Amino acid sequence: MEITFWGTRGSIPVSGPRYAEFGGNTPCLSIKLESSRDIIILDSGSGIRELGLKLMATMKEHSRAIHLFLTHAHWDHIQGFPFFVPAFVPGFKLDIYCSKDAKAILNKQMSPPFFPVGLDVMGSTKTFHMLGEGQSVPVEEACVRHIPLPHPQTSTAFRVDERGKSMVFATDTEHTAGTLNETLAELAAGCDVFIYDAQYTIEEYKGKVGWGHSTYTEAIRLAEAAGVKKLILYSHDPTHDDEMLRSIEAQAQEQFPNTIAARDGMVLKL
Ligand SMILES: [Zn+2]
Repeated sequence: MEITFWGTRGSIPVSGPRYAEFGGNTPCLSIKLESSRDIIILDSGSGIRELGLKLMATMKEHSRAIHLFLTHAHWDHIQGFPFFVPAFVPGFKLDIYCSKDAKAILNKQMSPPFFPVGLDVMGSTKTFHMLGEGQSVPVEEACVRHIPLPHPQTSTAFRVDERGKSMVFATDTEHTAGTLNETLAELAAGCDVFIYDAQYTIEEYKGKVGWGHSTYTEAIRLAEAAGVKKLILYSHDPTHDDEMLRSIEAQAQEQFPNTIAARDGMVLKL
């Protein structure tokens, strides 16, 4: 599989020269599979806009069947959806999976007074799937599993396995100091790529308990407990500029060498 990071920022998009290296779009990843020409997308933050344009420009390389998995409904994870061009184009087929009622959520986002047109103007074929506990979703030879994550209104972690390769996307989650999230460590066990919410430094977290995010030190604890091969720090705080993220990345690498802080546009081939 091939993972592309279209948005890696938490909370709100940022732009400007101080963010040039890591980028400023909110969460969105796409996964190209080996066994299928369908596309898997994780979250529809502002990064999905550019992914949509890429999909429109490369129509021969995919099936126009898109499987969009949403972690939760906080703005930064759905705000790009109304700007996702393929959703407007007949011939595209969107299967949207969420442990909440995604149809109601996206409808609400695209309704007055928040947005000029409704979900009904989108010409693609959309099917909404409410994910049940323990339910896995097959996409050809790939399998997508999920667990709930501790976060205000809860979030969802996804694991994608295909042909012996695996990735886990665990963003928007808060840890409990001194307690390892065993369920998440179990989901991430032995995976090739572990993407984890490292929004705050330890100092910042002290003033943000209950806001639903975690730290790079917790990311490392989990990565070590789960025996993951590569750790990706994700959901960068909007106040963290390139210089700060490079410094966080270097500190994390001292403890877990195979760590990178996610950058918009980054591609990982597994
Ligand atoms: Zn959230």
